[in-house]
Amino acid sequence: MKIRVLGCSGAIAEGSRTTSFLVDHDVLVDAGTGVGDLPLEALAQIDHILISHSHLDHVLAIGLLADSVMRLRAAQGRGPIQVHALPETLEALRKHIFNGVIWPDFTRLPHVDKPVLQLVPFAMGERLSLGGKTFEVLSAIHTVPAVGFALQGREGWWVYTGDTGPNPALWARLSTMNVAHLVIETAFGDEQSELAGLSQHLCPKKLGRELSQLEGCVNVHITHIKPGEVDAVMAEVAALSTTHRVSALRAGQVLQVE
Ligand SMILES: [Zn+2]
Ligand SMILES: [Zn+2]
Repeated sequence: MKIRVLGCSGAIAEGSRTTSFLVDHDVLVDAGTGVGDLPLEALAQIDHILISHSHLDHVLAIGLLADSVMRLRAAQGRGPIQVHALPETLEALRKHIFNGVIWPDFTRLPHVDKPVLQLVPFAMGERLSLGGKTFEVLSAIHTVPAVGFALQGREGWWVYTGDTGPNPALWARLSTMNVAHLVIETAFGDEQSELAGLSQHLCPKKLGRELSQLEGCVNVHITHIKPGEVDAVMAEVAALSTTHRVSALRAGQVLQVE
């Protein structure tokens, strides 16, 4: 399985896209601004979208994608794109985005009985089988209900923390899994550790405490750094003492899970 990084930035600027991963050709994990770089034909092949939480940088492209591919998917006889998330996240999307004011209700368009989007709730800890791939819903601790995801490969798991502050339950769960790749956020530098605490994100110091709870030598990919701050945050990350192989995630990078 191939995981292509469409966006991994904490905000936008030229060359910086917000969080989204394309797994093979048919599953999207989060729907940030990076989705907009895919050709229309590739957009039309996305059958499932996993959403970690309701924040705009992770959901913005759901409605735009629906609008882009609605006619093409109907012409190809494809069913609705399934949007999988916690019930609270789906309720937030219904109430605040697909409300006819911010954006049309694409769960009822182009026809009520044949919509382009279908909202499908999951629970924390649930295993989902999507397009022949197995995902597990992981816990996350953020300012709104949030989760991370793990994708199962034969030789190890690809793990994405989503947006999260310190999260002991995650390390308890990961200690029982063979983690091949860990994509973990570090949204702020250490000089903004107070803001990281308030907004339930990580900074390098907190990242170090988190990674010390994961045994072995794992490929760790740092995500969600703001544009213009990558070098400063990664310098602080490089100063951590850790057993893991840590690097900054890059848009366009392809991670492979066998
Ligand atoms: Zn967030
Ligand atoms: Zn975010």
